[in-house]
Amino acid sequence: MAATFEANGIKLQQASGDDDPSDVLLTGFVFPDQPQHTIPALVLKSTKDRIQQLSATVSAPLHDLENPFKITTSDTAGQGLLATVDIQPGRLILSERPLFVTRSELPASSSQIETYLQVLFARLPQVQQAIFSKLENCKFPLECGPLLGRLRTNGFTFNPYPGAPPHAGVFATLSRCNHSCGPNAFAHFNHQTWAIELRASRAIKAGEEIVISYVDVLDPCLKRRAQLAANYEFTCKCKWCTFPKSKKVESDARRTEIASWPETKLVQVLQSGSTSVQSLFGETSSQAGAVNPSALIMPTISKIVTISREGLEPFSLPHTLALSKVYAQLGDEKNYQKWRMSSRDLSLALCGESEETATASQQLDDPVNTVSGWGSYVEAQGISGA
Ligand SMILES: [Zn+2]
Repeated sequence: MAATFEANGIKLQQASGDDDPSDVLLTGFVFPDQPQHTIPALVLKSTKDRIQQLSATVSAPLHDLENPFKITTSDTAGQGLLATVDIQPGRLILSERPLFVTRSELPASSSQIETYLQVLFARLPQVQQAIFSKLENCKFPLECGPLLGRLRTNGFTFNPYPGAPPHAGVFATLSRCNHSCGPNAFAHFNHQTWAIELRASRAIKAGEEIVISYVDVLDPCLKRRAQLAANYEFTCKCKWCTFPKSKKVESDARRTEIASWPETKLVQVLQSGSTSVQSLFGETSSQAGAVNPSALIMPTISKIVTISREGLEPFSLPHTLALSKVYAQLGDEKNYQKWRMSSRDLSLALCGESEETATASQQLDDPVNTVSGWGSYVEAQGISGA
């Protein structure tokens, strides 16, 4: 017999054989910059406590003066985000908090979760209810109810505090961003503003669609398409998925090669939030050892070219960092600036503003006096040659 329990006046039912959900709460989060606005949430009590502690120090989401995009009917799938101006790599495209939040894994059946979502939905202001109701739904009625279907079709997974288990949120604008296997933008959750940030991962031209990836972009085309069909019920028509057969084989081979590089694993760890760009920079620096730094230049550039041919720029970060380190050792200011700026922009795209991006800006202004070991290889050569 299923046990029932009550949280905030809502009767939640415990699914037999599952974890004890007795500390799941229907609650809401309020942040100092929007005291009148509550974000409905279905979370564990411990999560609620952590976020409430965090909320005192949360600041308003970052905003540029004007959105660099408009929502329009896309060539690929329903509505989408179209760039209205040229967007530089690393630039903030949008920053927004979720309409509502739920823990990704809830110890309840689909129909029970649908009931909880009805309660969350009822707590949304009418404007936000209307936005949510207009989002795509490829799961209803075959798999689940209409609200859970819309959540599964449009939800983003994020950690509501550092190290938290995954939660799902639906975002009014970001949820309209379509998929590409070579995305030009990347979304990450900023705990400081408690908002998801979408940033350009390479230059985007005015009129180009802003796209993110819904699947593991390092998987081969067939696997990506199968996952997109199973989870989102569409066939990807991106450049890489519509290549003729021979070019598709080459693209798959490049992605497999990128996946095999140890630096790619570093970026995946970074994306999971388990490390910072600073520590990634430390690792990359130590790899550029005492050997002639010039020997690292061509192989590293070759990797960056392979990555950009697949439209997977965020994986270039360890390589652009390594190149900036090499050119610093060589005391080559022009090339240092080029790769340091590129790594700063990729770091922004992946993680937003951080200690690393602040350091990068200082070093870009005055590399000779702020980069440790500037020109060290040239000096060492001078001494040994004397
Ligand atoms: Zn594709």
